[in-house]
Amino acid sequence: MSERQLTHVQLEGSMVPVVADCDVVVIGAGPAGHSAAVSAARNGSSVTLLERYHHLGGMASGGMVLVLDDMVNEGNEIVTTGLVDEFVERLEKQDAAVYPPREECQTNWEMWQKWSRWGCIDFHKAMMPQPIIHAVAFDPDAWKRVSLDMVREAKVNLRTHSWFSDVLMEGGKITGVIAQTKMGRQAIRAKIVVDATGDLDVGVAAGADYTDGQFIVTTVFRLCDVDTKKAIEFEFSHPEEYKKIDRQARRVIGGAWGMWWLKTPLPGVVWCNCPHMPGYDGLTPEHMVAAEYEGRERMMNLLAYARENVPGFENAKMLGAAEQMGIRQTRLLQGEYVVTKDDVSSRRYFQDTVCRGRDYYTPYRSLLPKGIDNLIVAGRHYSVDSDAQKLSREIPPCMSQGEAAGVAATLALEGDIALRQVDHKDIQKRMRAQGADPGDAPSANALIEPAVAAE
Ligand SMILES: Cc1cc2nc3c(=O)[nH]c(=O)nc-3n(C[C@H](O)[C@H](O)[C@H](O)COP(=O)(O)OP(=O)(O)OC[C@H]3O[C@@H](n4cnc5c(N)ncnc54)[C@H](O)[C@@H]3O)c2cc1C
Repeated sequence: MSERQLTHVQLEGSMVPVVADCDVVVIGAGPAGHSAAVSAARNGSSVTLLERYHHLGGMASGGMVLVLDDMVNEGNEIVTTGLVDEFVERLEKQDAAVYPPREECQTNWEMWQKWSRWGCIDFHKAMMPQPIIHAVAFDPDAWKRVSLDMVREAKVNLRTHSWFSDVLMEGGKITGVIAQTKMGRQAIRAKIVVDATGDLDVGVAAGADYTDGQFIVTTVFRLCDVDTKKAIEFEFSHPEEYKKIDRQARRVIGGAWGMWWLKTPLPGVVWCNCPHMPGYDGLTPEHMVAAEYEGRERMMNLLAYARENVPGFENAKMLGAAEQMGIRQTRLLQGEYVVTKDDVSSRRYFQDTVCRGRDYYTPYRSLLPKGIDNLIVAGRHYSVDSDAQKLSREIPPCMSQGEAAGVAATLALEGDIALRQVDHKDIQKRMRAQGADPGDAPSANALIEPAVAAE
């Protein structure tokens, strides 16, 4: 039903308690928001981090998206460093991250057999075997633990179970945000606001320009009691038979990328980044209910098929679906600069690049809305067109955006200036100083327009 067909009720205004007063409030503790909060706090800002759920991590934990992609470019340089590196190191210490050693990042069948089922492949390459690359398979619960550790160590004021619902504004500035909680509405006052909701919730409430994006949604799930060794041996010893079974499995689930199951750091547990369900709007409750019904039915159908037909899956059981619906794209900011598909695919370098992923560069302007002085975004809803977002929304680059946004917020506070007045060179310098790659030194294959080169 459309907004216009609904009847409406008028809500009375009410007094709302102020529960925090800080330099920076970050809304959303997914990969981007977590990085933004930690980065701003480590740079000296007082930070409040608001999250609607009990856990931190967004799609990387609650959404059970379990491989970090877009960390290397075609030249095999690692392009997402800083907080991404630190996060992976912390996961590794908990035996919760697996990735190929650099010397095994090769293109041959031996390495393919060893690493492809970890998802450490360059899935952009239309060739077989695809190159093995630096990508990281991880455990979602460890992601939550590491996120909490880092937030606590950085002395971020964490407020979970707090659903952002509105902004307080004076002129073109946001003076605070309102969160809905079990205790009623609560206000957080802040000088700078980082929208890391993935859906531009804050930006929309503040009147930022945006476009409605949409992409397939997925109820990601995990199976346990899988004999992965047997499954892989069968795949390689009976390739034709395997292909037939696999094709049917993908038909049963109704849409999956090349591999419908991947290994995880937990023995016998595989994650299934499927089904692909088009036509759902990730913001509309009625759509999400329908997607939940459809996704759960499909995953049980796949389990039944796999138990009957896929060697290694005879005893497989449903470990569970992700807590959060897998939403890839909804509203996208249309800010100071809108990154296009051509920018991403031509590897266009911008003078004000503050972070990057694979072979794409993210200009500082694409984190800034037009007309709102103290709001910055980080994450999958940055200022980008729908097709470009599909190619530039992976977890590590979203974390790097967050790290850059946290730095920018602090620089704005230090200089007592608007976010758009912060010099991108200062952000780049600070990012480098904290071990992050701001993408200011373009790779050899970058497209550098003459005007940019001359600047
Ligand atoms: C099914 C699927 C498969 C994917 N596969 C991969 C992959 O293999 N590798 C990869 O690197 N990337 C993958 N991605 C992309 C990646 O997961 C996301 O683009 C990335 O997580 C975006 O990070 P984010 O922080 O911007 O948003 P999110 O991860 O969506 O985090 C947003 C956070 O904000 C919180 N929030 C939202 N609204 C509010 C509110 N109003 N109040 C308070 N809190 C709020 C949410 O609860 C959440 O914690 C996949 C995505 C999906 C959906």
